[in-house]
Amino acid sequence: MEFEGKLIVVTAPSGAGKTTIVKHLLQKFDFIDFSVSATTREKRAHEIEGMDYFFITTEKFKQLIADNAFAEYEMVYQDQYYGTLMSEIDRIWNSGKHIIFDIDVQGALTLKRKFKERCLTIFIKPPSKELLIKRLIQRKTESPEALKKRIDKASHELSFESLFDYVLVNDLLEISCKEAELVTQRFLNQ
Ligand code: 5GP
Repeated sequence: MEFEGKLIVVTAPSGAGKTTIVKHLLQKFDFIDFSVSATTREKRAHEIEGMDYFFITTEKFKQLIADNAFAEYEMVYQDQYYGTLMSEIDRIWNSGKHIIFDIDVQGALTLKRKFKERCLTIFIKPPSKELLIKRLIQRKTESPEALKKRIDKASHELSFESLFDYVLVNDLLEISCKEAELVTQRFLNQ
């Protein structure tokens, strides 16, 4: 039977713990690979070019938009672009694997519109808005100004939950990881 690559799109308001869940799924399933996004934001100290992101200039990003190179892209924060390259999707499917994405809410909805039933969208929801804000503050990766931007955006994104295939309340991380595993497996077995 010919391989039909699928997409598992994990999204959440910033700070809801989606990256941990994505990493867990990648470690659990060797038939899934991570879609490395392109971004114009600054590289953080621990990040690796080509593994966490492709860090590119805004000029280059705009050129790629003009060339229709993106499956989706968003200005996630003011003047900071993030996007999924079509070449990244092709690369992973050509290697015989399914793809997992860690992208924002709007980008997730775009991929769903584009790939329909080949795509599962999972919305990770924090148990409460207060906890989400606490997690963002604890992360200490942002300046106070950037932190405020993220809190505002996360609050807005919480209102989109009904548009997703599966809503996962991230209370106890261990249980959430297990739940994500089950949902993913069920979707890939369809
Ligand atoms: P961070 O700067 O913390 O790595 O990511 C900021 C936000 O951008 C996160 O919500 C992340 O999931 C999202 N993001 C990362 N890559 C992409 C992408 O390719 N497209 C979209 N739309 N959002 C992305």
